[in-house]
Amino acid sequence: MYLIREFDPWHSKLCTCPPKLTFNPYTGCDHMCVYCYASSYIPKFFNCRPKKNLILRLKREAAKLKGEIISISNSSDPYPNLEEKMGLTRKSLEVLSKFNCKIQIVTKSNLVVRDIDILKKTVSMVTLTITTDDDEIARIIEPRAPQSSMRIKAAEKLILEEIPVSVRIDPIIPYLNENPEKLIEKLASIGVKHITSSTYKIKPDNWRRFSKAMPEIAEKLKPLYFEKGEKVGRYTYLPKTLRFKLMKRIGDLAKKYKMKFGTCREGLSYLNTATCDGSWLLK
Ligand code: SF4
Repeated sequence: MYLIREFDPWHSKLCTCPPKLTFNPYTGCDHMCVYCYASSYIPKFFNCRPKKNLILRLKREAAKLKGEIISISNSSDPYPNLEEKMGLTRKSLEVLSKFNCKIQIVTKSNLVVRDIDILKKTVSMVTLTITTDDDEIARIIEPRAPQSSMRIKAAEKLILEEIPVSVRIDPIIPYLNENPEKLIEKLASIGVKHITSSTYKIKPDNWRRFSKAMPEIAEKLKPLYFEKGEKVGRYTYLPKTLRFKLMKRIGDLAKKYKMKFGTCREGLSYLNTATCDGSWLLK
C-alpha cells in the first residue's frame, strides 16, 4: 500500500478539488472531534498511531514526485497530540521538501508553526480549520484539539512568515456556528486570503457523539436532517435550500472582507470564487 496516494475523498461525487495527492503520517487522530467523518472509515480511529516504516517508505515514494500538490492530511490530522513527541510529520516534511512537490498542510493544530523553517524551503501553504472563534464551544466539539484562539495566533504567525494561509470554517452547524462574521473579520484582518466552508454531514457514529456532546442542539437539528434533509451517498445532509442559505452567507462575508471562497462537497460550486480548497495560494 502506497503512502502517497491520489486524493479521493471517499469517492464523493461532489468533490471539486483539483487533482492532488494525499499523505497521512499517522493512522487515526487523537483530536476527538465529535463530528469527525474519517472515524467511520478507519478502525480504532481515535487510537492515533504512526504508520510503519514511514520515513523509509516516504523517501522511496517521494523520489517519483513530479511537482504535484500533496495535501497533508485528509483522513487524519498531521499534528495530532502525538506529533509533539514523535516528530513524524516534521521528519516527513524534511523528506518532501527535498523533492519536487507543493505542500498543503491541513490541520487544527498550532504546532504547525514549529515547522515554519521547513515550509519556507518549499512551495507550501497551510489550511487551518477554525470551526468557531468560541474556545468554549470548540472544547466541547473538538475536545483534544488546540483552542481556536491558538489556531488564530498560528495563522497570524504563518502569514507574518509569508506562508499563505486559508481557513476552513467547517463544519457549519445550524444553531451553533452559522454566523461567523466576527471570525471572518478577524481572519481578514490578519491576512487570511481564502475561506473554505461546508455544512455538517451526519453519519451514525458522528451523530451519536454529537448528540451526547450537544443534546439541546441535536434535538433542534433532528427535523432539519431527518425529516427535511437529503441522503447523499452514506451521509445525511441538510436540505439543499438551507445549505445554499448557509454557504451563501459565508461566501458573501468572504466577499465583504475581500477574501476568496470555496464550498466543500455541497453541490454548490457555483458559489465558489476560487479553487475550493484554497490551493490557488500555492505559488
Ligand atoms: S482533527 Fe480532523 S481527523 Fe482529527 S478528529 Fe478532528 S475532524 Fe477527525
